Amino acid sequence: MMKDDCIFCKLANGVFETNVIYEDDDFTVILDANPATKGHALILPKEHYDNIYELDEEIAGKAFKLAKKLAVHMSDKLGCDGFNIVQNNGEAAGQTVFHFHMHLIPRYKNDAAMVQWKPGKPEDDELKKICAELKIY
Ligand code: AMP
Ligand code: ZN
Repeated sequence: MMKDDCIFCKLANGVFETNVIYEDDDFTVILDANPATKGHALILPKEHYDNIYELDEEIAGKAFKLAKKLAVHMSDKLGCDGFNIVQNNGEAAGQTVFHFHMHLIPRYKNDAAMVQWKPGKPEDDELKKICAELKIY
């Protein structure tokens, strides 16, 4: 289902014109309007899901398969040196458009794009505690 006030619903379903590099029954892949690097693209499901928590499992599987296909295709065409796949959920994680999407970001040696975090240095006990909390049996 499309959501009335959602810009990505409109872009993914052809209501507004944009730069489409791939389309199938479930997804439209467009160029990001404010690219981190040359070729930065977005995988948009045609159905509306706010985020990964709402995302249909089958669409989730198809989205990652498509990301793999596009990473290979785009790297080949652009001759980039690396590739980031980024997916933000919630304001705290940097999400600004609340329609699930995956960023495909080609990377070039010495580009100024940043997809980084400051590495922590937890004690072994702390990691063990988190591991026990998260473990799925
Ligand atoms: P996020 O911060 O993960 O929610 O990413 C949203 C992305 O959507 C940003 O990289 C924006 O540059 C991009 N964006 C927002 N509006 C448009 C638009 N109309 N067309 C293409 N990209 C857009
Ligand atoms: Zn939407």
